[in-house]
This record gives sequence, C-alpha cells and structure tokens, in this order.
Amino acid sequence: MSSQTLLAVPLSSTGVALEQQVRQARAAGADLVELRVDRIGDLPAVETLVAGARLLPLIVTVRSADEGGMWTGDEAERVALIERLASLGPGYVDVEHAAWQRSANLRQRIGVLCGVRSDQARPSERRAGEGPFRRAANRLILSHHDFSGTPVDLDAVFDRLTATPAEVIKAVFTAHDATDACRVLAQLRRRAGERKVIALAMGEAGLPTRILARKFGAFLTFACLHPGGDSAPGQLPVEDLRSLYRWDQIGPGTRVYGVVGWPVAHSQGPEIHNAAMAVADIDGVYVPLPVRPGYAEFTAFMDGVTRERELDLFGLSVTLPHKEHALRWLDERGFGVSGLARQCGAANTLTRRADGTWEGDNTDAHAALEALQTAARVGGDRLRGLRVDVLGAGGAARAVVVALREHDCAITIYNRTAERADRLARELRCAYKPWEQRRQCSGDVLINCTSLGQWPAESETPLPEEALRPQTLVFDMVYRPRLTRLLRAARARGCEVVSGFRMFIGQAAAQCERWHGPAAASAVRNCDPDRRGTTPANTQ
Ligand code: NAP
Repeated sequence: MSSQTLLAVPLSSTGVALEQQVRQARAAGADLVELRVDRIGDLPAVETLVAGARLLPLIVTVRSADEGGMWTGDEAERVALIERLASLGPGYVDVEHAAWQRSANLRQRIGVLCGVRSDQARPSERRAGEGPFRRAANRLILSHHDFSGTPVDLDAVFDRLTATPAEVIKAVFTAHDATDACRVLAQLRRRAGERKVIALAMGEAGLPTRILARKFGAFLTFACLHPGGDSAPGQLPVEDLRSLYRWDQIGPGTRVYGVVGWPVAHSQGPEIHNAAMAVADIDGVYVPLPVRPGYAEFTAFMDGVTRERELDLFGLSVTLPHKEHALRWLDERGFGVSGLARQCGAANTLTRRADGTWEGDNTDAHAALEALQTAARVGGDRLRGLRVDVLGAGGAARAVVVALREHDCAITIYNRTAERADRLARELRCAYKPWEQRRQCSGDVLINCTSLGQWPAESETPLPEEALRPQTLVFDMVYRPRLTRLLRAARARGCEVVSGFRMFIGQAAAQCERWHGPAAASAVRNCDPDRRGTTPANTQ
C-alpha cells in the first residue's frame, strides 16, 4: 500500500537543540522524525518544535512504560499531553493499541484530532475534503510492542491491529534469532498490500526487518542519527542503512543474501558482499542472519525461508557453528551437495535454485589453497610434495587438508583434542602428533587452523615465537585481526606470512561468482589489501 517506504529518525533527547536534530535528520536523508516525548522530557522544547515551521513531518509519541517507554506518570495527564501536541498538527500521532482499546477518553480526544470516530472499527475511506471526516491534520498510528519475543501466533496480533481505524498499524517484536525476523517480514509482506504497516523486530537479530522494510512495502523503517543514538535496540545509523545496505536502491525485486551463524555481528560479510554488489550493479542486499547454535535452530530457519519463497532469499554464507548443520540439512531434505562440500564434511555456501530447492558447496578449501599460493615460496605448483604442519582439527583444518591432499603434501595434524586429530588423520590419510609436540614441528609450511589469536583474544597464539623457523611459510586462518600475534612473531623471525583475510576474501569471491557472476567476484577480490599493494599490517 505504501508507494515508498519512509525513513524515520527518532529523536529522544535535547542534547542538541531539537530543531538542529531535525535539520541533521533531513540532511541525512530522513523523510520524517519521531519525537519520543516520553524520553525527551523537555516539553517546552517539544512544543516549540511542533508548533514551529515544519522541516519534516513529525510523529508524536508519548510511550507508556508498559510498552517500553519512559512515561511513568498519570494516564490522564499523558492523554492530555498527547492531545495538546496533536492539536498543534505534527502530522502523525502514535498511540499504543492496548491504551486505545482500554480508554474511551483517549479514543474520543485523540480520535477527533486524527479524523477517527471513537467507535469506528475500520479506517475511513480518506479522500481529502470528502467523506464523513474531512482530511485531518494528523494520521493515527496504533502500535503494539513486545519486548519479550515474537509470539507464535503473529496472525492474531496483526488481525487485531488490522481491525482498528488506524491509518497506520505498527507491530514491533523482539527477535531472538533470524527465524523470528523472517516471520515478521513474512507478515509484513502479506499485510502491506492492504494497509499501511510498520512491522519490525528489535535486537541485533531483528536487523533484517529494518533493512528489508523497503523491499516488502512497509510504511516506514526507523534509523538513528548517530551510532548509539537508537531509541530501540538494534536500530542502525541512517548512514549505515544508506551506504552499507544501499537503502535507496532496495525495491520489491531486490534479492536477499546473508550470513548465517552465531554470532555474526562481527562478520565482515555485509561490508564485502554489499560493496561488491554495488560495484557490479546487482539488485541485491546481504544481511546478517544470526541463527542460534544447534541443528534444530538451523533447521527451523532453513525450513522457514524455504517455505516463504517470497522472502527472496537466494544465497547464504554459512559460518560457525552451522557449516556441518548445513550439510546435514541438505542431505535430510534431499537437496544437492557438491563433492567438495561432502569431502570437507561442511557446506559454507548455500544457493537457491530456480525451483526453490537449495544446493550446498564449500568455498573454504579452494580459498585456503589460493591464499597459500599467493606466497612467493609456494606459488604455481611448488606446493607439491611439501611438508605441511596443520594446527587444529576442526572444519577449517579439514578443508585445507582436503585441498592439500590434491598436491601430495605430507601433512601432520596437531590438535588439542587427540581423538579429533586421530579421526581426521585416519579419514584423510595423513599423520597426527600430540598437541604438546607442536613446538618441534619442522615442516615447510605451518598453518594455524585453531581459533587461537582471534579477536577479541588477540594476545593468544598457538605457537611461541621461538618455535618458529625462519624458512617456514606461516599461514594463519584467523582473519580478525588481519595480522595476528602468530603472524607478527613469524615476520619478526623472517618467515613469509599469509593472512587469513586472503582466504576470507577468496571464499567470499567464490560465493559471489556463484550468485552473481564474475564482475561481483572480481570486486570482492579487489577488497584484498595485498592485491591493492598495501600490507595487512595493523589493519583490523
Ligand atoms: P572449529 O571447527 O570450531 O575448530 C576449532 C579448532 O580450534 C579446533 O581444532 C580446536 O581444538 C581448536 N582450539 C580452539 N580453542 C583452542 C585452544 N584454547 N587451544 C588449542 N586449540 C584450540 O572451527 P573452524 O571452523 O575450524 O575455524 C577455526 C578458525 O579458522 C577460526 O578462527 C575461524 O574463524 C577460522 N576460519 C577462517 C576462515 C577464513 O576464511 N580465513 C575460514 C574458516 C575458518 P579442539 O578440537 O581441541 O577443540
């Protein structure tokens, strides 16, 4: 129903004069501003703004404490305040649906100022200057907030809101993971054809609902002016929404991609994939999709997005702890799995086929190999026959061992948990030694496939400096920070080093190649600072 989703900035303090904040919001690209009067507190400042010259339409909200606001005073006073502000004609007035239902006084006094009769059940046919109600100065938003979660029966919540005379219905939930966010988006998609709808989920996991509001025809989304200036958990700064997620380009046909893992907030995937799609002029957006650990949680997410095909999810990067889950899910649903993903025992790339089924692949193995081959010592096929020490026996270790076997390398695995090293060594026919003996490793290449040294525990390292030999090529799969403690020590010992960021870029480029073609893939490869002639030193 909304022709274009509006971008609303909530203002919740007078740290900077309100009028100046409205100017900043307009300059940042906002279409309207919400005055969170319950938080601002400074009523004279609010009244001056609402009564003054109109830079942008305003939403007046005096949110009650029982719906997450800061108004703890008397309800009659709150109604009187909303009435006073609404009489100044801000444009929009937001009232909680529960309060609207409870109070005939509120319905009567605020309804009049929004062109809504207190006993009216549905919105009026509004044509300016016609009908039983002349076009009112304000539009009524009736809202519902759930700070505990996203209920199973979302239909019931939206049905109740739909049966009101509000011009705009607003339902805000709390997403515990991306499955909740997708359920909210599915409701938005279904309801936005009939009514002006705001449907959002709070929290980090609710981010996709804020970014994709425009794709699914929401009336508006909220974004804050500055980082940390959010009035609800999970609001993005306008700048990130517009530049990182390309808000202005999102439309009904935009394809959705994302990274599934737990946690994913630290992932550089959105930065890299969205920038690549911008360069390659692809109508797509890549969003973080945090899915709780556990196979049941992964399955719930994947089954949900497979059922809701209209969500237009076309490709997923899969990261810890779901790579093995992805393979199992593909097998259980009878979907396709590449030979490499099967050998690696994990799928880090899921691609939706035209018929709605999925296929899984692994781009880690080749990316690890490619990253190694950028080193002068092993470029071309000089890897063949080299002695390689692998620290770790998890998914990343398995991927690199699968790739190195093709080059007849003599591989020795060292892992803290001996049984895991033993199992991997037997399965992939290589040697293993106890973790305690890693200091004596003397191969041509050393690869760290443990998470030791990864942000935020950057002071950790799997090997002390004195155990490193100058002629060894050292590759650390950890990519945040780009120059880990292990790599710094290796450089100090005169070793050639390879950063895990190279591998990260390589696996992302291979995903882009599958999803969008060569232009986006080469845009990703250009993110590699080494390829642009800079070093990874102290970049994070
Ligand atoms: P994983 O399957 O969970 O394996 C983790 C490995 O780290 C296991 O071998 C584990 O040993 C070891 N480990 C963890 N904490 C340890 C400690 N305190 N002391 C000794 N060993 C420890 O994870 P993964 O998928 O293999 O990932 C491993 C690392 O590679 C992560 O940092 C990940 O971000 C990175 N990675 C990077 C890329 C890239 O593109 N650059 C791609 C994939 C992975 P146990 O078996 O004893 O627990």
